[in-house]
Amino acid sequence: MKYYDKLIFELSKEGRTGYSLPCNSYGRGLELPSGLCRAQAPALPQVSEIDVVRHYTNLSQMNFGVDTGFYPLGSCTMKYNPKINEEIAAIPGFNGLHPLQPENTVKGAKAVYEGLDKALAAITGMAHFTFLPCAGAHGELTGLMIMRQYHIARGDAARTKVIVPDSAHGTNPASAAVCGLEVVEVKSNANGLVDVEALKPLLGPDIAGIMMTNPNTLGLFEKEIGEIAALVHGCGGLLYYDGANMNPLLGVVRPGDMGFDIMHLNLHKTFSTPHGGGGPGSGPVGVAEHLVKFLPGTVVSGFNGNFGVILRAYAYILMLGKQNIKLAGKLATLSANYIKESLKDKYKLPIGSVCKHEFVYDGLIDDGASKAQDGHGATTLDVAKRLLDFGFHAPTIYFPLLFHQALMIEPTETESKETIDQFISVMRLIADEAAADPMTLRSAPHATPIRRPDETTAARQPILKYGDTL
Ligand SMILES: *Cc1c(COP(=O)(O)O)cnc(C)c1O
Repeated sequence: MKYYDKLIFELSKEGRTGYSLPCNSYGRGLELPSGLCRAQAPALPQVSEIDVVRHYTNLSQMNFGVDTGFYPLGSCTMKYNPKINEEIAAIPGFNGLHPLQPENTVKGAKAVYEGLDKALAAITGMAHFTFLPCAGAHGELTGLMIMRQYHIARGDAARTKVIVPDSAHGTNPASAAVCGLEVVEVKSNANGLVDVEALKPLLGPDIAGIMMTNPNTLGLFEKEIGEIAALVHGCGGLLYYDGANMNPLLGVVRPGDMGFDIMHLNLHKTFSTPHGGGGPGSGPVGVAEHLVKFLPGTVVSGFNGNFGVILRAYAYILMLGKQNIKLAGKLATLSANYIKESLKDKYKLPIGSVCKHEFVYDGLIDDGASKAQDGHGATTLDVAKRLLDFGFHAPTIYFPLLFHQALMIEPTETESKETIDQFISVMRLIADEAAADPMTLRSAPHATPIRRPDETTAARQPILKYGDTL
């Protein structure tokens, strides 16, 4: 244990202080009237300024963030979030807004909503967006409610089933279930794409629509989207686009042109708001012209979503501009393919075709099992843990569920070639370690403040404060 691993309460020393208040204009200290003071002083730690500075600085370094290192977490688009976004979100006229302010006092905010609506419509090919949803999953639910209302308004309430590919993000079937719709799974083919032949027999008068993300969660572009759209529309259904994977398509392809009717975007992923740990997020939902009347609320209502994230997204889009935003997706795609090709002699690559912004390995080619006394080699979890020792965040592991040892890597466009090369060489080194002696990986991480928590217990019964035990 390092001395600074102590809690701030354990550092407390009677009488030590880190502040001094100035005298007031009467020359006396700022003592409060005794009637306003508590009988007993609060049990706050008594520490010097440097103790406080070290305590919080060290705490902050026990965590991992995009600002501390490369974060190739597949499906999460952990791109760098330019600091100018933060400056703009902190402008007092914006961050002091109150949701109940009269509309004529929030003209600037209204202009931000309108400007972003226009920009997102241009990027996606949708007609308009609602900014109420505060996460991707929240957007999915909103979008499915719009889909349901569209059918009900046409007197076609029997459409209660939604088709979801087996490669889908877990939130897709979950949102459909929350919306009261029945989920019908469509299988992927050997190339990792939706199997169009398997889709055909599922279509009928009970289908409300299909939910898809393109590129899908394997990072592969669904090339047959045109035919899929024609088939689903042909049976009377709508197409929902999970836009959390929009990053590689920016300025290249538009969901509206692919035939999608409804979609959400994850502003916190594609449009650069720091995210993770459950927030903050924004999942605006866009619809094609024929569904605009089903969007919730007006363009500016009292409580219009997560304004700080919306503001950051607008700043980010304006800063990149029409020309440069087209580069983001292409560079993200290039980086992913570069890593994919550079490591495929060390990690199993189940689907080798050109990917978009991310791709999936299926564990190590040589996991070292033959070298281990107990015959167990190093797993994907072990690779992920070992990466932490080298200062890299782990990729997404064991998702998507199509492979047993899935290791899903998404580098994003914001990393330099030098950083990506470093990552590649560390991934190669780890593979060699595994092949030589898998115990090096199985006992990793060796250099992090916390090593291998029991993941289920850590999630379900977290120890959050001093003195708590299981
Ligand atoms: C992240 C993600 C979601 C869910 O978004 P949240 O903001 O976490 O609710 C949905 N679909 C895909 C493909 C994603 O990557």
